[in-house]
Amino acid sequence: MNTNNGLRTREARRGCVQTVLGLIEPIALARTLMHEHILCDIRPPSWKTLGSFGREITLENRYAIDYGEVTAPGNLVLDDRNTAIQELRRFRTDGGNSIVELSCGGLHPDPNGLVEVARGSDVHIVMGCGYYVDEYQDPANQSRSVDNFATEMLEQIERGAWGTDVRAGILGEIGCQTPWTGLERRVMAAAAEVQRDSGAAVCVHPARHPDQPFEAATFLEQQGADLSRVIMSHLDRTIFDDERLFRLADTGVVLEFDLFGIETSFYKWADIDMPNDAQRLRTLRRLIDRGHLEQIAISQDICYKTRLVCHGGHGYGHILRNVVPMMMRRGFSSEEIATILEHTPQRLLALV
Ligand SMILES: [Zn+2]
Repeated sequence: MNTNNGLRTREARRGCVQTVLGLIEPIALARTLMHEHILCDIRPPSWKTLGSFGREITLENRYAIDYGEVTAPGNLVLDDRNTAIQELRRFRTDGGNSIVELSCGGLHPDPNGLVEVARGSDVHIVMGCGYYVDEYQDPANQSRSVDNFATEMLEQIERGAWGTDVRAGILGEIGCQTPWTGLERRVMAAAAEVQRDSGAAVCVHPARHPDQPFEAATFLEQQGADLSRVIMSHLDRTIFDDERLFRLADTGVVLEFDLFGIETSFYKWADIDMPNDAQRLRTLRRLIDRGHLEQIAISQDICYKTRLVCHGGHGYGHILRNVVPMMMRRGFSSEEIATILEHTPQRLLALV
């Protein structure tokens, strides 16, 4: 699959981070959120046929919608570029610099929108590619092969994604469900292949079963992926015991806790005990004490309106405004914080 042309372009990118506005030096990333959505539509396909956004979000109902008591499909759609610019400007004011935007196939990616938002907010945006979980994918994908997916994903990094000339800088979030479907395995196998051919990192959206992250990591290793450049997302809603967590850590993958800011034990997508930020930090501390500092990523996975400041939410700056001070109060060193928010993102996003 490596044409000479492809090799040359890869050589030109090596060591750089590919944002939606072009290549930058890794050091320019500074404080980086590794798993967010800025422009997306995460309505389950079965809801879209309802054809409606449901009730408008007001001050009176925003908590109920955010909590999940009240269903408002429109809450799951982030499609206003000006709103996104305002929210990202707030993130800049809070000391943030860069965001990884993982709205890939199935989540209504908008590359040209991200270009406009990056320009308007002065935030570096690194865009994902590939496909989210099976049920969100175009039914036509069912008949596609690993090679066919790999060709498309490599092109999304080398030439441009989703019919634009805007290039992706990371693979993912590559989706898995329980049970893990054949289509999802083919997309994952393609991601492993394109990781080798492009030097980009892979971000995995694991299924909710607590053993699935390990299963996905093992599969990726069998496919020849470099696990030190694989990010296992959403562990705060997936793994609740140290035995599984440490077993996953020992594979070498990056462990991502990306639901910071969700402070309620109730989680509307699954009946689990969602940790709060303080509990997430305790887990981070146990991992650091076991020697895994350089395998930790944190983020907020904002993907609906009630988490935006303009709808009464915490916004993209929550980790910088609130979690970093909490980390300092709880004895995390500035070096540990810089490793998590700056050095690890630099390592992962620099194409190798
Ligand atoms: Zn996500």
